[in-house]
Amino acid sequence: MSDGRKFEFNWPWFGNRHIIDFLQGSILSRELSHFYIFSGLPDLGKSALALAFSASLLCRNFADGQGLLPCGSCPSCLEVKKAAHSDLTFLRLAEEKKNISVEQVRNFIRLMSLGSFASGFKIGLVKSAESLSLEAANCLLKTLEEPKPGVVIILLTSHLEQLPATILSRGQILLFRPAAREQVYDYLVNEHKLTRDFARVLSRISSGRPALAAKLANDPGFFAGRKKIILTLIKMMSDNISGRFQAIEEIIKQEPGSAVETLEVWQTITRDLLLMRLNLEELTANELALNELREVNLPIAGLLNLQEKIKEGMKYLAANANPRTVLENISLQT
Ligand SMILES: [Zn+2]
Repeated sequence: MSDGRKFEFNWPWFGNRHIIDFLQGSILSRELSHFYIFSGLPDLGKSALALAFSASLLCRNFADGQGLLPCGSCPSCLEVKKAAHSDLTFLRLAEEKKNISVEQVRNFIRLMSLGSFASGFKIGLVKSAESLSLEAANCLLKTLEEPKPGVVIILLTSHLEQLPATILSRGQILLFRPAAREQVYDYLVNEHKLTRDFARVLSRISSGRPALAAKLANDPGFFAGRKKIILTLIKMMSDNISGRFQAIEEIIKQEPGSAVETLEVWQTITRDLLLMRLNLEELTANELALNELREVNLPIAGLLNLQEKIKEGMKYLAANANPRTVLENISLQT
């Protein structure tokens, strides 16, 4: 930097080096955009990076022009950790709602304009931005058209294609990609201190999604639940119809609202079975259920059909179809 002072970054690793480099570069050069769109599959670390980026801008060290970013210990960093920083506002889909409403956006904009502006920044994070209603998106757009200095809005989405073109054309779009399996493995061994065996199981199951791997590593209940879903889905494939419907009932009861996740797991199982038919067992994701997978007798044609139906099911779910009906229909395909 021209003034000779410098920063060091203290961000979590979540793959996507190209995005980390870009964001850190804009901090170093102080060439910040008012509006970013983080796009990619769930659990690639979009939220974690958005938080690290925000915390860095709000950290006292950034104002001081040197040191660790974020330092993790200044008053600002402590408030970010508690999700209680007055210059960092969140907007997310309310429970059981299909859209982020225009009222929510108005409230979000109002909150962003309040307070001390202590850090010189007002940062807003919008999660599941694809669920902004059109009216809500237009309302947000007005703020983006004439942003006040220091305002930074970050939209997070796993469905970029569902955002209005008017929003897309204004944002700095950053595309998150899955990490390589070996990278996730190293991350689990080095950062989360997992045993090599467990790190291998989780790096395979998490399909290049570091945030998912971290959740599985740190939350035994979540891991047990995921394992149960995998085993239930595999068992279901050779069960009769009432057994299949009962299995779906169980999954829905265990994790309400998780039909999308269930379909994603189902997709990995189908892919694993195809890999096994092709003698590529070492590439399977669900290593923890290899014995159970070996028991499934579906032929390749059936597996391909199932894959197709799961893809269709995802589209129905995105269009707000009833999750139970979608899962039951797919379960009839094998
Ligand atoms: Zn700090």
